[in-house]
Parts: sequence; C-alpha cells; structure tokens
Amino acid sequence: EAFYKRLPKIELHAHINGSISTESIEELLAKNQEKGRPQPDIEALRQWKAKVENGEQMTLDGCFDMFKLIHQLVDNSEAVAIVTRNVIREFAEDGVKFLELRSTPRDVPETGMTKRSYIEAVLSSIKQCKEEGSDITVRFLLTIDRGRDLQTAHETVQLAREYQATSDGVVVGIDFSGDPNKNDARQYIPVLQEARKSGLKLAIHVAEIPNVAENLSLVQLPPDRIGHGTFLQPEVGGSEELVETVGKLRTPIELCLTSNLVGQTVKSFDIHHFKYWYERGHPCVICTDDKGIFATSLSQEYQIAASTFNLTREQMWELSFGSIACIFADDETKDRLRNLWAQERSKLQ
Ligand code: 5GP
Repeated sequence: EAFYKRLPKIELHAHINGSISTESIEELLAKNQEKGRPQPDIEALRQWKAKVENGEQMTLDGCFDMFKLIHQLVDNSEAVAIVTRNVIREFAEDGVKFLELRSTPRDVPETGMTKRSYIEAVLSSIKQCKEEGSDITVRFLLTIDRGRDLQTAHETVQLAREYQATSDGVVVGIDFSGDPNKNDARQYIPVLQEARKSGLKLAIHVAEIPNVAENLSLVQLPPDRIGHGTFLQPEVGGSEELVETVGKLRTPIELCLTSNLVGQTVKSFDIHHFKYWYERGHPCVICTDDKGIFATSLSQEYQIAASTFNLTREQMWELSFGSIACIFADDETKDRLRNLWAQERSKLQ
C-alpha cells in the first residue's frame, strides 16, 4: 500500500461531509465543549464506523442516515471550515495532488450559518491550505441535492455562477447527488442545462440504482462526468442504449469501489463495474466518495482495484495519469500536472 500512497493521484468525487475523519469529529466535539454548545448524539455514527472498519456491509439508506448525523455536528461555518481544512490535509497526506471537493450549501438559522457563509467557509479553508504551501490543488463543486426542491436547485446554480466569477477559479461546477430514491431527476434537467450555459461543469450521479428512463435522460445531457454509473449495463438492469450512449460520448466515470460495496449496490469487488468500463478502455477515475463514512482513503481504493483486477503498478500509474484528462481545469493546469506526474514517476522507481 505504501506504493499507492506515494503514487501521485487525482480525487474527483469527494463529498466534504462524507469525507469527515474521526479526528475531525473529535475536534468538533471538543470545540462544542469549549464553547458550551449542545453536543449532538453521534453514537450511531461511531457504531457505523466501527462496523465498516470491521468489513461489514451496510446499506445505501444507512449512508443517508449518517449524513444527517454529520450535518448535526457540522452545523456552523467554523465547523465547515475545520472539516474542509482537515479533509484537504488528509488527501494531501495520502498523495493526492489535485482534488475536487463537492458539498451542499446549507443554512442553519440557529447558528447563523447561511448558504453564502457555508460556501465562504469552504473557500477560506481552500485558500488557507494554498497559503500554507500545501502540495495540492483544490477546486470546488456546489452540490444540488435531488432530495430538495427545484427552487433550491436553482438557487444553488445562482450561487455557483456568482462564486465562479469571484473565487479565483476555485468554484468550477455543479455536482448532482442526494438520495437516488427521492424525486425524479428529470425535473432538474433544465436547471442543470442552465448551469452549463453559464460555463459550469457538470458531475452527475447516474444509475446508483436501476432506472433506465431517468438514467437515459441524465446521460444524454450529457454530463461532463458521471458519478458511479453502477446500473448502466443491461445485465445489471440498465440497457444497451445507456451503455452505447456513455461509450460513444466517452463521458468519464468516477468509480468508488468501497462505497458501492458498503452501500451494497455492488455485492463484491470482483464484479464491480470498474472492470467493465476499464476493459473497454473507457475513461475511468478511481475515487473515494465519502472516505469518512466508508473508512477508506484514495490509496486504499487504488490498492483494492489493483489487487482485485490484477493490475500492475504500471497500469495503476496509467490510470492515475489518465485521470488528469478528466479534471475540471484548463489545459495549462493539466499540463502542469502531467509534468508533475513525470517528475514523480522517476522517484517512484
Ligand atoms: P455534503 O454535501 O454535506 O458535504 O456531503 C454529504 C452529502 O453528499 C449527502 O447528504 C448526500 O446528499 C451526498 N452524498 C454523499 N455520498 C453520496 C452517495 O454515495 N450517493 C449520493 N447520491 N449522494 C451522496
């Protein structure tokens, strides 16, 4: 695993609150104590983490219960800033050189947090890490939660447009996620198209559960990247048309092995759809999704992919290098990263 930690990596699918580490949880609890704030009961989160670390499989619904708990803990701008700062440091420590974070702006009237102060807390931590000279470039996608209404989605796009213009290029796009059992994703398509018209990139969760009609509309958008894509193939409840559309467009897919196993949308690593898309030569990016609640790291995900599918270190290097083409950044940034990879390669031998 030391090799995969040293390997320079790209992380493109990381939800900030789902990436919260145990250390961050402790730090936030201590902060509450210090400030005499009420402590949320996070016993269920502790138990969940212990089970996942023990290799137990959970459910996708269970994941969403954990997000609710984490949101009770991360309910003020200072907490958002702390979690973001720690998440960036943790990814940097794991050998990630380019990181796209995503998060749902929330307001919590009781603590005075607004969607704007939420976004600014994230941006301030990204800036702080940069000023500290962290060896990692960070970008930010604003999340539209499909569990919330259209008006909220519309507001998120407005905020993304505003911060796209004022964040020094840090806000680059929109993530569409949230509980896939909630609402019909097709109703959000006009809002997503509106975002794209403004030059925002689109990373869209697609086919986390089988639903051919909905997924077809989403892949035809088309997104700039697909999150998960678990049920695209006909043999798992998708369709030929879905696979052909994604294949022809070569829409990169963000693949999160442990996440899908813990959420039980994939029953074992060896049948993970990474294999299908990788073997077709399709653009694939290995990601963590929620390293906190899935008790993983990006280097561990690389290690799992390599050992499950018998991939050589050379192939894993190519996978990481190939991910540069899928980032939401200009050619100059991509070239800079490719040069960095070339330098790191000589050190890896
Ligand atoms: P946050 O946006 O609060 O930083 O991160 C947690 C949120 O990300 C969750 O409430 C959920 O909306 C979204 N999320 C995290 N992981 C997943 C996932 O695996 N699938 C989907 N659909 N949404 C997720």
